[in-house]
Amino acid sequence: MHTHRLDLEDPTIREWDATVLHSSSEDGIVLDRSAFYPGGGGQPQDEGVLLWGGVRTRIAGTRKGDDLYLLPAEGDPLPLAGTAVRGALDDGRRTSLMRTHSGLHVLCGVVFRDYGALVTGGNMEPMVARLDFNLEGVPPGFKESVENACNAELRLDRRIDVRSLPRDEAFQLPDIIRTATNLVPEDVKEVRIVDIVGLDQQADGGTHVASTGQVGRISVVKVENKGKGFRRVRIAISD
Ligand SMILES: [Zn+2]
Repeated sequence: MHTHRLDLEDPTIREWDATVLHSSSEDGIVLDRSAFYPGGGGQPQDEGVLLWGGVRTRIAGTRKGDDLYLLPAEGDPLPLAGTAVRGALDDGRRTSLMRTHSGLHVLCGVVFRDYGALVTGGNMEPMVARLDFNLEGVPPGFKESVENACNAELRLDRRIDVRSLPRDEAFQLPDIIRTATNLVPEDVKEVRIVDIVGLDQQADGGTHVASTGQVGRISVVKVENKGKGFRRVRIAISD
């Protein structure tokens, strides 16, 4: 991987300068520095533009292979290797995804703390998301209790810290054992931890807001029974 990942370093970056390392119509564009989140861990890819010499190349998505490839929108011009470009993210989309992703971690933390249930799957789009839980029965008032508990955590404005730990150290954190022991590949030596201080810690590669107050408000839209011990909780994020 030749691209320096600005998104992992500072999730607030929306515009930056970069140089094209490689470009072709088949592969896409490789930059020396990029803030485009390439997707993963349930968080969808970023979209945005590259500006260069009065030209605009829209970036419709990304592909991760041996490098991080930015995929131009159909028919848009391709900057050649060596071109200096200004990158910019679709701020509305990225900021919504950060709020939604952090909101999902709050939900995950609350449901584990209050009901002992583990997450088995999930999905997110800007401002709407779902998590699947391994939960036998749903007690009366579950939907309202979860929603109230989530919003109480948002009002507390808990700090969200991101740090990297050596694998052995990370796997001594009880929360990480619960969420990630079987998910992090053997060859990963450093584990990135997203810590909603006092509520939830997870191994995670996504982009998050700096504190839970920035999520906004969580509504539990629906709790679905998808079979034995399988509950799907759908949430929406609003201001
Ligand atoms: Zn996550």
